[in-house]
Amino acid sequence: MEKSKVVVVTTGGTIAMRYDPARKGVFPAVTGPQLVEAVPPLEDICSPEVEEFSNIPSPHMTPELMLKLAQKLDQILTREEVAGAIVTHGTDTLEETAFFLDLICKAEKPICITAAMRSGSDISPDGPHNLLCAVKTALSPEASGEGVLVVMNEEIHTARDVTKTHSANPKTFASPGWGPIGYVDKDAVIFRRKSIRFPRIPAMEVISDVHLVKMAAGADSLLLQCLAEKKVRGVVLEGLGRGNVPPAALPGVEAILNNNIPLVLTTRVPSGRVLDVYGYPGGVKPLKEKGVILGGDLSGPKARILLMLVLSITNDLEAIASYFNDPGASNLA
Ligand code: ASP
Repeated sequence: MEKSKVVVVTTGGTIAMRYDPARKGVFPAVTGPQLVEAVPPLEDICSPEVEEFSNIPSPHMTPELMLKLAQKLDQILTREEVAGAIVTHGTDTLEETAFFLDLICKAEKPICITAAMRSGSDISPDGPHNLLCAVKTALSPEASGEGVLVVMNEEIHTARDVTKTHSANPKTFASPGWGPIGYVDKDAVIFRRKSIRFPRIPAMEVISDVHLVKMAAGADSLLLQCLAEKKVRGVVLEGLGRGNVPPAALPGVEAILNNNIPLVLTTRVPSGRVLDVYGYPGGVKPLKEKGVILGGDLSGPKARILLMLVLSITNDLEAIASYFNDPGASNLA
Protein backbone atom coordinates (compact mmCIF):
# COMPACT_ATOMS: atom_id res chain seq x y z
CA MET A 1 0.00 0.00 0.00
CA GLU A 2 1.19 3.50 -0.80
CA LYS A 3 2.34 5.37 2.29
CA SER A 4 0.60 8.64 3.25
CA LYS A 5 2.44 11.81 2.38
CA VAL A 6 3.32 14.06 5.32
CA VAL A 7 4.98 17.43 4.70
CA VAL A 8 7.44 18.60 7.35
CA VAL A 9 7.68 22.39 7.31
CA THR A 10 10.81 23.48 9.15
CA THR A 11 11.05 26.94 10.74
CA GLY A 12 14.05 26.56 13.08
CA GLY A 13 14.41 26.35 16.86
CA THR A 14 16.64 24.18 19.03
CA ILE A 15 15.50 21.08 17.11
CA ALA A 16 17.57 22.49 14.19
CA MET A 17 20.51 23.77 16.26
CA ARG A 18 23.91 22.51 17.38
CA TYR A 19 26.60 23.72 19.78
CA ASP A 20 29.34 25.59 17.95
CA PRO A 21 32.62 25.24 19.93
CA ALA A 22 34.23 28.16 18.04
CA ARG A 23 31.46 30.60 19.05
CA LYS A 24 30.74 28.83 22.36
CA GLY A 25 27.00 28.84 21.92
CA VAL A 26 24.06 27.02 20.33
CA PHE A 27 23.20 28.20 16.80
CA PRO A 28 20.96 27.16 13.86
CA ALA A 29 22.89 24.44 12.01
CA VAL A 30 20.60 21.66 10.79
CA THR A 31 18.73 21.72 7.46
CA GLY A 32 15.19 20.46 6.97
CA PRO A 33 16.27 17.33 5.06
CA GLN A 34 18.85 16.54 7.78
CA LEU A 35 16.13 16.78 10.44
CA VAL A 36 14.02 14.20 8.65
CA GLU A 37 16.99 11.95 7.75
CA ALA A 38 17.84 11.78 11.48
CA VAL A 39 14.59 9.86 12.08
CA PRO A 40 14.81 6.69 9.91
CA PRO A 41 11.54 5.18 11.32
CA LEU A 42 9.66 8.00 9.58
CA GLU A 43 10.15 6.21 6.26
CA ASP A 44 8.39 3.12 7.70
CA ILE A 45 5.16 4.99 8.47
CA CYS A 46 4.89 7.69 5.80
CA SER A 47 6.34 9.25 2.72
CA PRO A 48 7.93 12.41 4.16
CA GLU A 49 8.46 15.59 2.15
CA VAL A 50 10.40 18.57 3.49
CA GLU A 51 9.60 22.24 3.00
CA GLU A 52 12.20 24.62 4.47
CA PHE A 53 10.29 27.74 5.54
CA SER A 54 13.04 29.36 7.65
CA ASN A 55 15.79 28.46 10.08
CA ILE A 56 15.34 30.96 12.87
CA PRO A 57 15.29 30.80 16.66
CA SER A 58 11.67 31.24 17.72
CA PRO A 59 12.32 34.56 19.54
CA HIS A 60 12.88 35.81 15.96
CA MET A 61 9.41 34.61 14.85
CA THR A 62 6.97 37.43 14.04
CA PRO A 63 3.21 37.62 13.41
CA GLU A 64 3.99 38.50 9.77
CA LEU A 65 6.01 35.29 9.40
CA MET A 66 3.24 33.33 11.13
CA LEU A 67 0.80 34.62 8.50
CA LYS A 68 3.12 33.50 5.68
CA LEU A 69 3.50 30.13 7.40
CA ALA A 70 -0.30 29.76 7.64
CA GLN A 71 -0.65 30.54 3.92
CA LYS A 72 2.07 28.02 3.09
CA LEU A 73 0.34 25.33 5.18
CA ASP A 74 -3.03 25.97 3.54
CA GLN A 75 -1.36 25.63 0.13
CA ILE A 76 0.31 22.36 1.13
CA LEU A 77 -2.82 20.87 2.66
CA THR A 78 -5.00 21.55 -0.39
CA ARG A 79 -2.83 18.97 -2.22
CA GLU A 80 -4.97 15.85 -2.29
CA GLU A 81 -2.08 13.43 -1.72
CA VAL A 82 -0.98 15.20 1.50
CA ALA A 83 -2.41 13.61 4.67
CA GLY A 84 -1.11 16.17 7.13
CA ALA A 85 1.62 18.68 7.94
CA ILE A 86 4.22 18.96 10.67
CA VAL A 87 5.77 22.26 11.70
CA THR A 88 9.09 22.20 13.52
CA HIS A 89 9.59 25.33 15.62
CA GLY A 90 11.49 26.77 18.57
CA THR A 91 9.79 26.24 21.90
CA ASP A 92 9.98 29.85 23.15
CA THR A 93 7.10 31.21 21.01
CA LEU A 94 5.67 27.89 19.84
CA GLU A 95 2.38 28.39 21.70
CA GLU A 96 1.80 31.69 19.91
CA THR A 97 2.45 30.27 16.44
CA ALA A 98 0.26 27.24 17.27
CA PHE A 99 -2.65 29.46 18.34
CA PHE A 100 -2.18 31.79 15.37
CA LEU A 101 -2.30 28.86 12.92
CA ASP A 102 -5.26 27.35 14.77
CA LEU A 103 -7.20 30.61 14.34
CA ILE A 104 -6.47 31.16 10.68
CA CYS A 105 -5.64 27.95 8.79
CA LYS A 106 -8.46 26.67 6.57
CA ALA A 107 -7.38 23.05 6.49
CA GLU A 108 -9.21 20.38 8.46
CA LYS A 109 -6.31 18.00 7.85
CA PRO A 110 -3.98 17.65 10.83
CA ILE A 111 -1.27 20.22 11.54
CA CYS A 112 1.08 19.14 14.35
CA ILE A 113 3.80 21.37 15.76
CA THR A 114 6.82 19.93 17.44
CA ALA A 115 10.19 21.08 18.74
CA ALA A 116 13.08 20.13 20.99
CA MET A 117 14.47 21.31 24.30
CA ARG A 118 17.85 19.65 23.67
CA SER A 119 19.86 20.48 20.58
CA GLY A 120 21.37 17.93 18.20
CA SER A 121 24.71 18.14 20.00
CA ASP A 122 23.31 17.47 23.50
CA ILE A 123 23.34 14.00 24.99
CA SER A 124 19.95 12.40 24.22
CA PRO A 125 18.36 15.11 22.08
CA ASP A 126 14.55 14.99 22.22
CA GLY A 127 13.93 16.36 18.70
CA PRO A 128 13.98 13.08 16.69
CA HIS A 129 11.51 11.29 18.98
CA ASN A 130 9.25 14.37 19.11
CA LEU A 131 9.23 14.53 15.30
CA LEU A 132 8.31 10.85 15.06
CA CYS A 133 5.47 11.31 17.59
CA ALA A 134 4.20 14.39 15.71
CA VAL A 135 4.06 12.41 12.44
CA LYS A 136 2.26 9.50 14.15
CA THR A 137 -0.29 12.01 15.51
CA ALA A 138 -0.78 13.65 12.11
CA LEU A 139 -1.46 10.20 10.62
CA SER A 140 -4.07 9.39 13.23
CA PRO A 141 -7.65 9.78 11.92
CA GLU A 142 -8.73 11.26 15.28
CA ALA A 143 -6.42 14.25 14.74
CA SER A 144 -8.53 15.61 11.85
CA GLY A 145 -10.62 18.62 12.77
CA GLU A 146 -8.98 18.98 16.20
CA GLY A 147 -7.08 22.04 15.06
CA VAL A 148 -3.39 22.65 15.46
CA LEU A 149 -1.89 20.17 17.91
CA VAL A 150 1.36 20.52 19.83
CA VAL A 151 3.18 17.20 20.18
CA MET A 152 6.03 17.14 22.68
CA ASN A 153 7.37 14.54 25.10
CA GLU A 154 4.80 11.98 23.85
CA GLU A 155 1.92 14.28 24.82
CA ILE A 156 -0.61 15.96 22.52
CA HIS A 157 -1.89 19.42 23.50
CA THR A 158 -4.40 21.79 21.92
CA ALA A 159 -3.14 25.10 20.57
CA ARG A 160 -5.58 26.97 22.77
CA ASP A 161 -4.50 25.47 26.10
CA VAL A 162 -0.82 24.68 25.72
CA THR A 163 1.96 26.72 27.28
CA LYS A 164 5.68 26.37 27.97
CA THR A 165 6.09 25.83 31.73
CA HIS A 166 9.83 25.19 32.23
CA SER A 167 12.75 27.00 30.65
CA ALA A 168 14.93 23.89 30.25
CA ASN A 169 13.22 20.59 31.10
CA PRO A 170 12.01 18.49 28.11
CA LYS A 171 8.70 18.01 29.94
CA THR A 172 7.95 21.69 29.49
CA PHE A 173 4.67 21.86 27.55
CA ALA A 174 1.49 21.57 29.58
CA SER A 175 -2.14 22.66 29.42
CA PRO A 176 -2.67 23.99 32.96
CA GLY A 177 -6.03 22.98 34.37
CA TRP A 178 -6.85 20.75 31.39
CA GLY A 179 -4.00 18.37 30.66
CA PRO A 180 -3.09 16.93 27.27
CA ILE A 181 -5.80 15.99 24.75
CA GLY A 182 -4.03 12.69 24.15
CA TYR A 183 -0.70 10.92 24.00
CA VAL A 184 1.50 8.88 21.71
CA ASP A 185 2.40 5.32 22.68
CA LYS A 186 4.68 2.89 20.80
CA ASP A 187 1.78 1.19 19.01
CA ALA A 188 -1.00 3.80 19.03
CA VAL A 189 -2.02 7.44 19.24
CA ILE A 190 -4.59 7.83 22.00
CA PHE A 191 -7.03 10.74 22.19
CA ARG A 192 -8.98 11.34 25.39
CA ARG A 193 -11.08 14.46 24.64
CA LYS A 194 -12.10 16.85 21.86
CA SER A 195 -10.73 20.34 21.43
CA ILE A 196 -13.10 23.31 21.60
CA ARG A 197 -11.77 25.93 19.20
CA PHE A 198 -12.34 29.59 18.55
CA PRO A 199 -14.11 30.25 15.23
CA ARG A 200 -11.76 30.62 12.27
CA ILE A 201 -10.76 34.22 11.52
CA PRO A 202 -10.59 34.89 7.77
CA ALA A 203 -7.71 37.36 8.15
CA MET A 204 -5.62 38.23 5.09
CA GLU A 205 -3.24 40.42 7.09
CA VAL A 206 -2.14 40.87 10.67
CA ILE A 207 -2.09 44.07 12.74
CA SER A 208 1.07 43.69 14.77
CA ASP A 209 0.85 47.06 16.55
CA VAL A 210 -0.75 45.35 19.56
CA HIS A 211 1.09 45.46 22.88
CA LEU A 212 1.15 43.32 25.99
CA VAL A 213 1.54 44.93 29.45
CA LYS A 214 1.83 42.89 32.64
CA MET A 215 0.59 44.18 36.00
CA ALA A 216 2.44 43.75 39.32
CA ALA A 217 2.00 45.07 42.85
CA GLY A 218 2.26 48.86 42.71
CA ALA A 219 2.38 49.00 38.89
CA ASP A 220 1.70 52.50 37.60
CA SER A 221 0.44 54.09 34.39
CA LEU A 222 3.75 54.83 32.65
CA LEU A 223 3.65 52.10 29.99
CA LEU A 224 -0.08 52.45 29.33
CA GLN A 225 0.17 56.27 29.02
CA CYS A 226 3.02 55.84 26.56
CA LEU A 227 0.96 53.39 24.45
CA ALA A 228 -2.04 55.77 24.55
CA GLU A 229 0.13 58.69 23.37
CA LYS A 230 1.51 56.56 20.54
CA LYS A 231 -2.09 55.69 19.57
CA VAL A 232 -1.26 52.01 19.14
CA ARG A 233 -3.88 49.76 17.54
CA GLY A 234 -4.51 47.53 20.54
CA VAL A 235 -3.41 46.65 24.08
CA VAL A 236 -3.62 43.46 26.11
CA LEU A 237 -3.31 43.90 29.86
CA GLU A 238 -2.34 40.97 32.07
CA GLY A 239 -4.07 41.85 35.31
CA LEU A 240 -3.81 40.33 38.77
CA GLY A 241 -5.95 37.38 39.93
CA ARG A 242 -9.45 37.76 38.42
CA GLY A 243 -8.01 40.54 36.24
CA ASN A 244 -7.74 43.35 38.79
CA VAL A 245 -5.43 46.32 38.30
CA PRO A 246 -3.53 48.46 40.88
CA PRO A 247 -5.10 51.93 41.36
CA ALA A 248 -1.96 53.72 40.12
CA ALA A 249 -2.41 52.05 36.71
CA LEU A 250 -6.01 53.32 36.31
CA PRO A 251 -5.15 56.68 34.68
CA GLY A 252 -3.25 54.66 32.06
CA VAL A 253 -6.25 52.36 31.48
CA GLU A 254 -8.44 55.44 31.02
CA ALA A 255 -5.99 57.03 28.60
CA ILE A 256 -6.12 53.88 26.43
CA LEU A 257 -9.93 53.78 26.49
CA ASN A 258 -10.27 57.55 25.87
CA ASN A 259 -8.26 57.06 22.68
CA ASN A 260 -10.70 54.32 21.55
CA ILE A 261 -7.89 51.77 21.61
CA PRO A 262 -9.25 48.25 22.24
CA LEU A 263 -8.04 47.06 25.64
CA VAL A 264 -8.30 43.31 26.35
CA LEU A 265 -7.93 42.19 29.94
CA THR A 266 -6.39 38.81 30.82
CA THR A 267 -4.85 37.46 34.00
CA ARG A 268 -1.22 36.78 34.82
CA VAL A 269 -2.39 33.64 36.69
CA PRO A 270 -1.77 30.51 34.54
CA SER A 271 -5.33 29.07 34.89
CA GLY A 272 -8.82 30.49 35.17
CA ARG A 273 -10.85 33.35 33.67
CA VAL A 274 -11.02 37.07 34.29
CA LEU A 275 -14.45 38.15 35.59
CA ASP A 276 -16.20 41.27 36.91
CA VAL A 277 -16.36 40.04 40.50
CA TYR A 278 -14.69 42.92 42.36
CA GLY A 279 -16.21 46.41 42.47
CA TYR A 280 -13.38 48.30 44.22
CA PRO A 281 -11.23 50.78 42.26
CA GLY A 282 -9.15 48.67 39.83
CA GLY A 283 -11.57 45.72 40.16
CA VAL A 284 -12.82 44.19 36.91
CA LYS A 285 -16.44 45.36 37.48
CA PRO A 286 -15.65 49.09 37.00
CA LEU A 287 -13.07 48.24 34.30
CA LYS A 288 -15.71 46.34 32.30
CA GLU A 289 -18.22 49.19 32.75
CA LYS A 290 -15.64 51.55 31.24
CA GLY A 291 -15.29 49.37 28.12
CA VAL A 292 -12.42 47.00 28.87
CA ILE A 293 -12.87 43.71 26.92
CA LEU A 294 -12.63 40.56 29.03
CA GLY A 295 -10.25 38.00 27.56
CA GLY A 296 -11.64 34.91 29.35
CA ASP A 297 -8.94 32.39 30.19
CA LEU A 298 -6.64 33.21 27.29
CA SER A 299 -3.06 33.93 28.30
CA GLY A 300 -1.79 37.43 27.56
CA PRO A 301 0.36 36.30 24.58
CA LYS A 302 -2.56 34.36 23.06
CA ALA A 303 -5.06 37.19 23.60
CA ARG A 304 -2.55 39.43 21.80
CA ILE A 305 -2.48 37.04 18.81
CA LEU A 306 -6.29 36.94 18.69
CA LEU A 307 -6.52 40.76 18.87
CA MET A 308 -3.93 41.14 16.08
CA LEU A 309 -6.03 38.95 13.78
CA VAL A 310 -9.41 40.40 14.77
CA LEU A 311 -8.17 43.96 14.18
CA SER A 312 -7.39 43.04 10.58
CA ILE A 313 -11.10 42.46 9.95
CA THR A 314 -12.89 44.97 12.23
CA ASN A 315 -12.29 48.11 14.30
CA ASP A 316 -15.72 48.01 15.93
CA LEU A 317 -15.25 47.60 19.69
CA GLU A 318 -18.39 45.52 20.19
CA ALA A 319 -17.49 43.24 17.29
CA ILE A 320 -13.95 42.90 18.63
CA ALA A 321 -15.31 41.97 22.07
CA SER A 322 -17.52 39.25 20.53
CA TYR A 323 -14.43 37.41 19.23
CA PHE A 324 -13.28 36.99 22.83
CA ASN A 325 -16.44 35.09 23.85
CA ASP A 326 -15.37 31.68 25.06
CA PRO A 327 -16.62 29.11 22.51
CA GLY A 328 -16.95 26.54 25.29
CA ALA A 329 -19.05 28.68 27.66
CA SER A 330 -22.84 28.82 27.96
CA ASN A 331 -23.73 31.97 29.86
CA LEU A 332 -26.15 31.51 32.73
CA ALA A 333 -26.78 35.21 33.45
N1 ASP B 1 15.40 29.37 22.13
C1 ASP B 1 14.94 28.24 21.36
C2 ASP B 1 13.87 28.69 20.40
O1 ASP B 1 12.75 28.94 20.80
C3 ASP B 1 14.40 27.24 22.30
C4 ASP B 1 13.89 26.00 21.67
O2 ASP B 1 13.73 25.86 20.49
O3 ASP B 1 13.61 25.09 22.46
O4 ASP B 1 14.16 28.79 19.22
